[in-house]
Amino acid sequence: MNREEAILRELNLHPLWKRRAPAAGQPELPRPAAAAQAAAAVDAAVAAPAAEPLSVQAAPANQRAQTIAGLEWPQLKAMVRDCTACKLRAGCTQTVFGVGDEQADWLFVGEGPGADEDARGEPFVGQAGKLLDSMLLALHLQRGNRVYIANIVKCRPPNNRAPEADEIATCLPYLQRQIALLRPRIIVALGKTAASALLETGDAALGSLRGRVHDYQGTPLVVTYHPAYLLRTPLDKAKAWQDLSLAVQTING
Ligand code: URA
Repeated sequence: MNREEAILRELNLHPLWKRRAPAAGQPELPRPAAAAQAAAAVDAAVAAPAAEPLSVQAAPANQRAQTIAGLEWPQLKAMVRDCTACKLRAGCTQTVFGVGDEQADWLFVGEGPGADEDARGEPFVGQAGKLLDSMLLALHLQRGNRVYIANIVKCRPPNNRAPEADEIATCLPYLQRQIALLRPRIIVALGKTAASALLETGDAALGSLRGRVHDYQGTPLVVTYHPAYLLRTPLDKAKAWQDLSLAVQTING
């Protein structure tokens, strides 16, 4: 099935995106150079095991961000697990670190956990997650295989409200470190919160960010609609498919 046929199929607005036959071998691009690790000079205290996470959490923001920028996966996971750095943690069940292949080519970034994710400790496991899984299948991808899924904030905002600026600022160093460790070949920002946090585009409308390839510290980044929005507005699934096609073109050169 060629790309036009695929887009037309999406215009039929099936409730879920169906798996397509795998495309013939596609050329692989070399990974982009590793994003420069912020604060390469991680001091010894930073590298200290997450045995004393609270002291790190209480550190000034720039020192805390520098600490996080020096962590490896185990320490990073432990620090997120124990994080109490913003007010969100008091209202959620658990932190939701992210899930997937730590050698992933694709990184999908959402906004923050909802009720299902808060209960399960895994991103995108509710209705929006089912649609995301279908989108992945349409790309011949699946959760955990060449794909990593994470959120801008690791704790569920109360009543599913959008995360506030201070919560995003406090949590973002975790995602930044995840990206530096993953070194994905492409980032897909799902929705305006993810796009504006990663690209620092403020209040720019999602529509103005779609349709082009952005640069996130040397990694291409494509913006598309959040799956929860697509559940409410299925007509825009065709546009989301265009965005994902742009991401495929980008990764395939
Ligand atoms: N919405 C998100 O942005 N992230 C999730 O993990 C679930 C729903």
